[in-house]
Amino acid sequence: MMSSYSSQCESCSEDGKSKVALRFCSDCDERLCRECVEYHKKCKATKSHNLIDLASMLRSTIPNVNTLCEFHEDVYLDFYCMQHDTVCCRKCIPSSHQSCKDVLLLEVASEHIKISSAFDDTFREWQNIHKTLEHLRQNFNDNVNELKKSESSICEEVRVWKRNLIKQINTFEEKIKIDLSNDMTRDLDQLKKLNTETSELHDNVKERGQELQFLKEYGSNNQLYLMLTEQGKGVQNVVKRVQEMTLSYKKTRLKFEKTADIDLKSIGSISEVKEAHDIQYSPVKLQQAHVQPERVDTILTFKKAITEQLKLTNKLHISDLAI
Ligand SMILES: [Zn+2]
Ligand SMILES: [Zn+2]
Ligand SMILES: [Zn+2]
Ligand SMILES: [Zn+2]
Repeated sequence: MMSSYSSQCESCSEDGKSKVALRFCSDCDERLCRECVEYHKKCKATKSHNLIDLASMLRSTIPNVNTLCEFHEDVYLDFYCMQHDTVCCRKCIPSSHQSCKDVLLLEVASEHIKISSAFDDTFREWQNIHKTLEHLRQNFNDNVNELKKSESSICEEVRVWKRNLIKQINTFEEKIKIDLSNDMTRDLDQLKKLNTETSELHDNVKERGQELQFLKEYGSNNQLYLMLTEQGKGVQNVVKRVQEMTLSYKKTRLKFEKTADIDLKSIGSISEVKEAHDIQYSPVKLQQAHVQPERVDTILTFKKAITEQLKLTNKLHISDLAI
């Protein structure tokens, strides 16, 4: 990464001059003013250098590419060995690549890198992964929000469930109250009838007893005899009725018969549901691991371009190309 973005021309400031830098040379890792840019473009050694507009550079970051050999201090990685598929410096060649056939200058090896499929595949793969990760992240965030929202909706569901249960129990209670009232009326009516009959009998029996008592004390024997004879017919009916009443009468009581003791273990539980998502990730080209200079591809591209340029028909064919 460049250490700072101060806008002074570094080339001029070495000469003690202060000039506003407009461009950044990524090959020299240096900021340059207008004059130095012109010189840079003319000079044979630097005219192929990449000059970046400083204003646009301030908005993005310049990646830090390691251009120096890790085995030889301060020596640039200027070569590429095809056998070892590795970059190296000039000092590496005698020690490690002496017998290697294809050791190319790095600028030769990298000549078509910007239009190569190696670049294309890798770049597309990064984009592909980037998109997938963004989808995943969005999905995770959505999931977090959905989870948070579900808390209140589940609580509401449980509340509704409870309310319905209570409503049902209330309905049952109302029905039992009506049944109770009906049964009560029926039983009270029955007891009232029995009570009335018993009171009548009671008065009647009391009167008969008083008649006998009176005649025993104040009446003649004849009178008492006649009264007893007359009462004798009726007393059997009363005896029979009282017998019936004492045998058939049962004390009435109402009680609440529960369906069963309601023994609720729980009213439900929370379960975790895992759902499949629709994010798919398939690597663009997994086998593209090495960055080889693409000689064949380059030739074919060139051949195609030439063919198109010349607008050749089937009559004419380019079969050989000399490079
Ligand atoms: Zn300058
Ligand atoms: Zn330069
Ligand atoms: Zn080296
Ligand atoms: Zn080698």
